[in-house]
Amino acid sequence: MPDICKVIIIGTGPAGYTAALYTARANLKPLVFAGPEPGGQLTLTTLVENYPGFAEGIMGPELMDQMKRQCEHFGAEIIHDAVTRVNFKAQPFEIFVGDQKYASETVIISTGASAKLIGLESERKLIGHGVSTCATCDGAFFRNQEVIVVGGGDTAMEDATFITKFASKVNIVHRRDTLRASKIMQERAFKNPKISFIWDSTVDEIHDVAKNTVTGATLRNLKTDKRTEMRSDGVFVAIGHQPNTAIFKGQVDADEVGYIKLKHRTMTNIEGVFAAGDVVDHYYRQAVTAAGMGCMAAIDVERYLEAKHG
Ligand code: NAP
Repeated sequence: MPDICKVIIIGTGPAGYTAALYTARANLKPLVFAGPEPGGQLTLTTLVENYPGFAEGIMGPELMDQMKRQCEHFGAEIIHDAVTRVNFKAQPFEIFVGDQKYASETVIISTGASAKLIGLESERKLIGHGVSTCATCDGAFFRNQEVIVVGGGDTAMEDATFITKFASKVNIVHRRDTLRASKIMQERAFKNPKISFIWDSTVDEIHDVAKNTVTGATLRNLKTDKRTEMRSDGVFVAIGHQPNTAIFKGQVDADEVGYIKLKHRTMTNIEGVFAAGDVVDHYYRQAVTAAGMGCMAAIDVERYLEAKHG
């Protein structure tokens, strides 16, 4: 590893690995920090059917392993550590893992976002086995089945409406008696005959961990504290996402939620610091769009370094 890297990539979802692939093939010898969740959100899914090039689909962890091996094949160095601190005020930029300091001329931030979870152990254990945080990815697995969607925002309404293309019934479980979603999305959901609402309620437990599949859930009415059992084939958790940007706070411009803002193409307000994937984009949030942005950031880095060094 050189004293000063040409590019350091932070995060290894589709954006990070694609940026690593392109910068490695451009001979920039990228150093890639895998982070606390190597492979990102796709490692929490099972079958991925909407990533182009896999006619029969591919398992999420397998897809990410293939991406990792592909960029390593071209010389990307992957470090299995999580970055703890950055200093973008220094030149070259400083990236820390504990006390260990790395220096780089450019940085690509691709730390992604994490879907918020309700916080149940059964939820965590059944992710990819009936519990999902991505309706676009997993909705089609629930053809003619009944599912629960948790949440009252635009994502929950959009997910519920989308899932009705496949499922026979969708029960939206929301913790209050009014929705946060925009009026138009609410109306679309209210009008849909396959959608029912369960108000003032939370999911207290998801069954059945022992069977490694979802069979139902225990709901609790927050006003009466009454618990009811609901049969269900799936649970979609749609209570928002959190960008993984805590370590960049104060270092680079972000919006009020923490999503990194881009200033010119994939460059942030700091010259030489780029960002790609879900850490920037809360709208599309797809593996293929993240990978596309990772490619864009890599090309931007290459051109930035060319312009800098002539
Ligand atoms: P959101 O607006 O923050 O809504 C999250 C929902 O989940 C809220 O209803 C919230 O309940 C509920 N919730 C949060 N934590 C919970 C918990 N621990 N247990 C149970 N329920 C919980 O998030 P979002 O729906 O993902 O939307 C994020 C942004 O993207 C918004 O600005 C939205 O407009 C935008 N978006 C737009 C579109 C579109 O235009 N097509 C689609 C999707 C998202 P409370 O209401 O009680 O707080």
